[in-house]
Amino acid sequence: MSKNSSRTPGRHFLHIPGPTPLPDRVLRAMDTPIIDHRGPEFARLAKRCLEGIKTIFKTTSPVIIYTATGTGAWEASLVNTLSPGDRVLMVETGQFATQWKNMAEKLGLKPEFIETDWRIGADPAVIEARLKDDKQHAIKAVCVLHNETATGCLSPVAEIRKAIDRAGHPALFMVDTISSLASTDYRHDEWGVDVTIGGAQKGLMLPPGMSFNALSDRALVASKNAKLPKSFWAWDDMLTMNKQGFFPYTPATQMLQGLAVAIDMLHEEGLDNVFARHDRLAEATRRAIRAWGLEIVCRDPRYYSPTVTAVLLPDGFDADALRALALDQFNISYGASFGPFAGKMFRIGHLGDTNELMILGALAAAEMSFALSGVPHKKGGVQAAMDYFVSAASSSARAAAE
Ligand code: PLP
Repeated sequence: MSKNSSRTPGRHFLHIPGPTPLPDRVLRAMDTPIIDHRGPEFARLAKRCLEGIKTIFKTTSPVIIYTATGTGAWEASLVNTLSPGDRVLMVETGQFATQWKNMAEKLGLKPEFIETDWRIGADPAVIEARLKDDKQHAIKAVCVLHNETATGCLSPVAEIRKAIDRAGHPALFMVDTISSLASTDYRHDEWGVDVTIGGAQKGLMLPPGMSFNALSDRALVASKNAKLPKSFWAWDDMLTMNKQGFFPYTPATQMLQGLAVAIDMLHEEGLDNVFARHDRLAEATRRAIRAWGLEIVCRDPRYYSPTVTAVLLPDGFDADALRALALDQFNISYGASFGPFAGKMFRIGHLGDTNELMILGALAAAEMSFALSGVPHKKGGVQAAMDYFVSAASSSARAAAE
């Protein structure tokens, strides 16, 4: 409750869509002495991480690990595969897609942006139609976000691959999984993705500061001819050094210590169980929002996100003020809003090391904050989420008994 002392009891509820709360086990793994990054112990750690991370992207190809946030891995994907003036097809799903497009422009590429109203994901049919029109194959890459974190819309990556194939187009396929990796199913090899971009601070339950490029053979071939300037991001030096378990520069040793353990934890839970948990938390959140009589920003259930749900407030209510009140009164952080939705919605992150009771807390704080700030709503959102969790738990108990 509102502070009249300098101490805030209990834990902060971090319900932004990443960075996500760190499991104690990951924190402990990082709280170890620094080791020599050119010594044998480091090589063992690096090889464990470089092999382990492939199982998360579901690939047998190399995965580059960068000491950089996701934005760095975006840049790496473009500069390693493309040349100045190349056309790239991107989809304006929201703020993060826009930032990637802006980066492409700054790097000297020519992005073509398929517009949306920021309330759906990327539509495979629209991509297919655009590629079919490109008879000269001027478009060199199709770049989409698997999950648009700004709006809570998930795009169908496997379907987009099929759409590219139906168009018979040779463009590279690059996918940002920064807010979906290790939270919902993703198959780099099976879905024919050439570069998958990932980040540490969401489903992987690590601090910000590490990011990834999962590669394909086609991406590696493209990198031999790509003319955009690069140095830190260059894949070739990294791949050569990684073979021995080393990096071309001083790597983020403690992040790797955490990564090794985070990968173990994901496999101990079982990736399919991790994905089912995220689906459950997302569904409970949506049921609460409907029970409140409020609107979910993602307007088509085909694109619902398993990791973040954005809630629209009725006209005239300030979502930033609501977030500030929730932080002050209940020690909880929700995600901010962007672009056309600035001040109109807030985002509930339900990803990473998160469970049912944490989500109920996040929903209860939202419901209480609506009441305190006069946002018109019906009661019963938390109840709707609890009812859903009860029914999900009883069906899984029945399934286990059969
Ligand atoms: N892409 C997506 C989908 C994101 O959600 C984010 C950040 O939240 C980024 C890219 C940028 O990553 P970073 O902030 O780690 O640089």
